[in-house]
Amino acid sequence: MKINLRKIIIFITFMLSFVSHGKLNVVTTTTNLKSLVKVIGGEKVDAFSFSKGTQDPHYLEAKPSYMIKASRADLIVSVGLDLEIGWLPLVIRGARNPKLRPGAIGSFVAGDFIDTLEKPKGKLTRADGDVHPEGNPHFLLDPLNAIKIAKEIMKKLSELDSKNKSFYENNFKKFSSEVEEQLVIWKKMIPKNVQVITYHKTLSYFYNRLDIENVAYLEPKPGVPPTAKHILSVIKIAKEKNIKLAIVENYFDPTVANRVAKDVSSLKVVTVPVTVEGEEDIKNLIDLYAKLLEIFKGG
Ligand SMILES: [Zn+2]
Repeated sequence: MKINLRKIIIFITFMLSFVSHGKLNVVTTTTNLKSLVKVIGGEKVDAFSFSKGTQDPHYLEAKPSYMIKASRADLIVSVGLDLEIGWLPLVIRGARNPKLRPGAIGSFVAGDFIDTLEKPKGKLTRADGDVHPEGNPHFLLDPLNAIKIAKEIMKKLSELDSKNKSFYENNFKKFSSEVEEQLVIWKKMIPKNVQVITYHKTLSYFYNRLDIENVAYLEPKPGVPPTAKHILSVIKIAKEKNIKLAIVENYFDPTVANRVAKDVSSLKVVTVPVTVEGEEDIKNLIDLYAKLLEIFKGG
């Protein structure tokens, strides 16, 4: 009896190790990308995001723990467009995992599939103080871009794990039809002519899709802290246009927005999550869009 029990335990342990080895091991740079990988991959993948939902993904540290995670991964999913240029190349180099090298089978760059907004005309680098040198990298805030990237992730997961191709395809179909259905409702929720001020250009794609007009940014350029002169110009615009909402992404400091609101009586400062897990109850991109909708539907 004793021996049988031990045999059973050994067998179960063996089966469990088999199951976990059967899963694709995916690392992503952001929680938004992790969310898409989970939507498509479900229980067939293990996904881990380097940045937390409350961290600015422009500025992360290349931690040794990220390199260890990446060394064991089958796939790395990144934003691209130079969003992670300050830290991801170091992580990939440190991981010594040939599958993840740029251009290799385990490297997936979502930005490669996107027509970006706000693409600078001349060649910019981060040395110019602009952290969006290849166009705006916050494209997953547009629900239709989420569908586009989900589809590409479906293809990539199917390539790496062809026996589960139809599983990934079904998950994609479910996700895309849900987002498409919701988008019709979301578009009706936003009143006409909503005008806002925002700290960083994080929500450009969301605004673009839902016809929200952003009249000024608190940062003079993406990644550049507000100057006194710039703040005065924002106050002027806010007064002239009678702006009611100043949006601050919740990983930025709202002090400057509050300073503007002191001078502009109509203005209310709202801090918002812009990523999955940016607040505890935001478990996926659909939760995130719904949360943002709640904020903007009041106009
Ligand atoms: Zn940015």
